[in-house]
Amino acid sequence: MDRETMIRELDTACGMLLVASMRDKLVKQAMEKVSAVSFHLGLAAEEECEHRFIHLDTTRQAGSRPSWGISPGQQWKKTARFFCEKCLEEKEITKTAEGWEEKPDWW
Ligand SMILES: [Zn+2]
Repeated sequence: MDRETMIRELDTACGMLLVASMRDKLVKQAMEKVSAVSFHLGLAAEEECEHRFIHLDTTRQAGSRPSWGISPGQQWKKTARFFCEKCLEEKEITKTAEGWEEKPDWW
């Protein structure tokens, strides 16, 4: 049973208890408990995913000195891709440095 179903079941139970709760104080208390749990479950479901990112792949581009306009200069560039194992959201981190610099530590 997933969270959506749990909330729906609780709401249905609240509806069923509502009529009886008008005559019975104990049923009213039970209904209030059930609806409180349903409310907090709903709040929890709306919370953001606590991402757990896993490395997917890394691409590298080596820098090069400009060759007097004959070929375009190329930057040092490193791109790492990650995905969250829970919600599958992807993120990408890119670092660049000028192509004529020494090879950066992070490359
Ligand atoms: Zn996530």
